[in-house]
Amino acid sequence: MDRLVHRICVAKGHQQLVLFDSAATWAPNTLTFIEGDWAYCPAGERVAHEWLETQPRPYADLRDEVEERIRSTA
Ligand SMILES: [Zn+2]
Repeated sequence: MDRLVHRICVAKGHQQLVLFDSAATWAPNTLTFIEGDWAYCPAGERVAHEWLETQPRPYADLRDEVEERIRSTA
């Protein structure tokens, strides 16, 4: 299932990868449904997003792209 993502979160505090703890009962949700379209936040935060409209592309592509960018600036 390839969901097209139309918005990406550019909030300064959210430009980090989700630290996934497999033992946790709750996992951060990096995709949010906004006004009928999917939006992606790398950190999976719930509030204080800063959405930027982007060229719609599949979630997997966008996620790889953002993770690559975050790693290269870390
Ligand atoms: Zn965010």
